[in-house]
Amino acid sequence: MKPALDFYRRIPLYGRILLGLLIGVVLGYALGDRAQSLKPVSDIVLQFLRLLATPLIFIALAHSLLKADISGRLAGRLLWLLMSNTVVAILVGLLVANVLNPGTHVSLPAPSGTVDKKPFDIAKDLLDKLPTDWVSPFSKNDLISVIVLAVAVGLSLRIVRRRQKELGQQGYMSFERFLETAFQMVMVMLHWIFELVPLAVLAVVARTVGTAGIAPLLQMGWFVAAVIAALVLQAFFYLLRLRLSSSVRPGAFLRGGFDAFAMAFSTASSAATLPITYSCAKDKIGVREESASLGVMVGGTFNHDGTALYEAMAALFISQVLGLHLSLEQQALVVLMAIVASVGAAGIPEAGLVTMLAVFNAVHLPIEYIPFLLPLDWILDRCRTTINVMGDLSVTCILDRSSETMNSGSSSNEMATVPL
Ligand code: ASP
Repeated sequence: MKPALDFYRRIPLYGRILLGLLIGVVLGYALGDRAQSLKPVSDIVLQFLRLLATPLIFIALAHSLLKADISGRLAGRLLWLLMSNTVVAILVGLLVANVLNPGTHVSLPAPSGTVDKKPFDIAKDLLDKLPTDWVSPFSKNDLISVIVLAVAVGLSLRIVRRRQKELGQQGYMSFERFLETAFQMVMVMLHWIFELVPLAVLAVVARTVGTAGIAPLLQMGWFVAAVIAALVLQAFFYLLRLRLSSSVRPGAFLRGGFDAFAMAFSTASSAATLPITYSCAKDKIGVREESASLGVMVGGTFNHDGTALYEAMAALFISQVLGLHLSLEQQALVVLMAIVASVGAAGIPEAGLVTMLAVFNAVHLPIEYIPFLLPLDWILDRCRTTINVMGDLSVTCILDRSSETMNSGSSSNEMATVPL
């Protein structure tokens, strides 16, 4: 038993997920309709994801708002670049999903409960979600209210920290350390849940294959293709923006950033890739240290364009599968929530799946469909993480040009200005 367990532990997460997928197919065929009895297995994982979504979003958002070193002249430019990249990413995702309609090619089991089809009023919905106390958003898993509270805590703490520093006080430090420790704690718990993901994949796949055969799994290929197409379009957008606003040529950017992209793809973690991204920016592409620190470090914390694009597409995809039409108003809400959810997503594998709950909740989509995305996520996570890293790196290069203009007179960088 122990050697088998040791062997299993040595398999990377994506390998386990693929194993779960294969065993799920075999089990599905073997059990047929009886595979329905595996539903509790994927339900448990979903339940755990829900359990962690609230603390993760609260702590990660407050923590990123507090930690990001975004003061100084370039800060405004940086925020504009990050925000506009994320909005473009989401719009690209929604556009591709609306044009290709991947959900119309897929049939998944009907939802277990009734789907909320009540008329949607974005203003009222958001107003209703404004927190009225500090407890119920957490006890009711009300993610929009939790986001509002997290932003308030993060921003107010920044102000308190600045004031206390001016007065030579250090009281803010204990709260900062508490947030830091709580963040690490949630990450540990998140890793525990990820250990269960292969089991959830096995259960979802077995249930699907057992009741409807392999067809729904193959049909999901439409979604994979649509997401990859949208991510590729986003990569082209970065290259175009670089061409227009930076002296780093797209060819030099791709060559210089290759190690970071490869690392992001192989680890599915933009946080783990951070040191490589920084070194690619500074040593290979040749941007100034100031721009690399600001762009890569702040971007790495805040900016998850690929995640935002994916979450928006997933919401639209599931609504198409269910035959629910998301109005423009609802899609606007998807944009808003995907921005916040991508900021709240930690730079670790599968984190986007947890914050996706916020997007689904906002537009009343049944979250029980999120496990159906699990079998695909081992590959889609890698692709979106690569785009997350590419986004940080492209922002860094553009920022470098801005800082060059602002500091005109300071030495220019050789590699960054040589057209290739
Ligand atoms: N894996 C992504 C990252 O590390 C986050 C996610 O979308 O799951 O940036």
